[in-house]
Parts: sequence; C-alpha cells; structure tokens
Amino acid sequence: TAIATARDLVKVYGQGPMAVRALDGVDVDLVRGELTAIMGPSGSGKSTLMHCLAGLDRPTSGAVVVDGQEISALSERRLTQLRRTRVGFVFQAYNLIPTLTALENITLPLDIARRPVDRAHLEHVVDTLGLRDRLTHKPAELSGGQQQRVACARALVARPAIVFADEPTGNLDSSSSAEVLGFLRRSVDELGQSVVMVTHDPTSAGYAHRVLFLADGRVVGELRDPTAERVL
Ligand code: ADP
Ligand code: ADP
Repeated sequence: TAIATARDLVKVYGQGPMAVRALDGVDVDLVRGELTAIMGPSGSGKSTLMHCLAGLDRPTSGAVVVDGQEISALSERRLTQLRRTRVGFVFQAYNLIPTLTALENITLPLDIARRPVDRAHLEHVVDTLGLRDRLTHKPAELSGGQQQRVACARALVARPAIVFADEPTGNLDSSSSAEVLGFLRRSVDELGQSVVMVTHDPTSAGYAHRVLFLADGRVVGELRDPTAERVL
C-alpha cells in the first residue's frame, strides 16, 4: 500500500510567458516500508516534487495524499502539524545543533513536541544506525558520515509516516556515503520506515528499493531493485 501518492501533480512558478512548469502531470505512489530514490537532471523537478509531497509547498493542481490525508485540503495550521508529527527530514548539510550531544540532537524533535522518549524505540534506532558509542559526542567530534547518521536517527525517532531526504550524501565522500546509505537502508528494512530521497548519485540510488526518474517535470522511468550499474 502507498504511504504517499501524487496524482496529476502540476506546479507552475510565475505566470505569463515567464512561467516555468516545474511539474507537468506527475503520478507517483511511494510504497510503505520502502526506500525510494528520485533521480533526474538538474531542473527536472525533483526538489519541487519532494516539497509538494512533504507539504512544504502547495501544487498548482493535482492531489497529494500523505499517510491517508489529502494535504491540499488541509489548512496551513494542520499542514504544519502534519509536518511536525508525521514527517521526518534529512538535509544535505546535516543541520545538527553544535552545542548539543548526538543523543540530545536525536531526541530534539520529541523535546520540541513535548513527547516522552520511547526508550525501546530510541535504542532500536540508535543501534540500527550504529551510533551507540557516539551518543555523548558533540557534532564537531563526529565524522561527516556519523553526523549524517545522527541526522537520520533524529528524523526516525518520532516514528514519522515518511522521511524525506534531500541529497543526504551530497556533502560526503564515497566511503561515508556508502556508510550512511547502508545504515539508512537497514533502518528501512528493520524499522519498516518509509523513506524517499532525492539524489544525483547512481551509487546512492543503488541502495533504494525503487528508483523513479524525472525529466522535464514528468516521471519518465522506474527501476525496481536497482544496482548502481543499472542506474547508470
Ligand atoms: P531539481 O530539483 O530537479 O533540480 P527543481 O524542482 O529545483 O528541479 O526545479 C524545477 C524547475 O522549476 C526548474 O526550471 C527551476 O528553475 C524552476 N524553479 C524551482 N523553484 C523555483 C522558484 N521558486 N521560482 C521559479 N522557478 C523555480
Ligand atoms: P497519533 O498517535 O495520534 O497517530 P502521534 O504524533 O502522537 O500521533 O504519534 C505518531 C506516532 O509516533 C505513533 O505511531 C506513536 O507510536 C509514535 N510516537 C508517539 N510518541 C512517541 C515517542 N515519544 N517516541 C517514539 N515514538 C512516539
């Protein structure tokens, strides 16, 4: 079953002769419990699609359903609430708080939402991401790969319906990328988490269950159980 769907999604920026059709009738189904990669050339609409699916941006027309909720029908307030409670984000630049330990960074979303920490789930996330012996370290004391794994743990800790990762390995060398993607795939397989990531990197896409290819604001291809060689 789908954790998120887009139907005939259109996003137009600007108007008149200068208008840009960033999404031109996109249909996608993101499968629950899978890691989906979105690939495509620069300007093909990857970020716009991700922002529309994550409720960060409203489409010009078409429907987005996330975790059973039609998000175009939601007020700004309900949309903000959905993003806070049901959606996790991983960014290229980690966005960790430098003065907090790894553990404090991971539990920050729960602290902000004033939700108690589910100890058993927290430990499962920490172990799945291989962070047990890094919890008391500050971000500056961690490698790039470790910092991004902390950011992944932070995205997973509140059990969101779906996690959006925007070029999660964009700042990492190839061995750190492999480390982060390996752990991320493991968290999907072991925790049943649904994750969608935008990436330029065929090696990263090789870790996904499924790759969707965008071009000129349309889905132009799809690959199931990809390997880096087949993505290339
Ligand atoms: P990608 O992530 O694949 O590089 P984007 O979704 O960022 O693609 O962009 C798709 C198209 O929409 C591009 O032509 C881009 O220039 C345009 N675009 C993106 N954001 C804006 C914006 N805020 N205003 C105007 N045009 C935009
Ligand atoms: P609801 O329970 O109404 O769906 P919540 O935002 O309270 O909405 O919880 C969403 C999910 O997050 C639930 O599946 C719940 O198990 C999980 N959850 C809630 N609180 C915590 C917490 N403190 N630690 C880890 N997971 C939590």
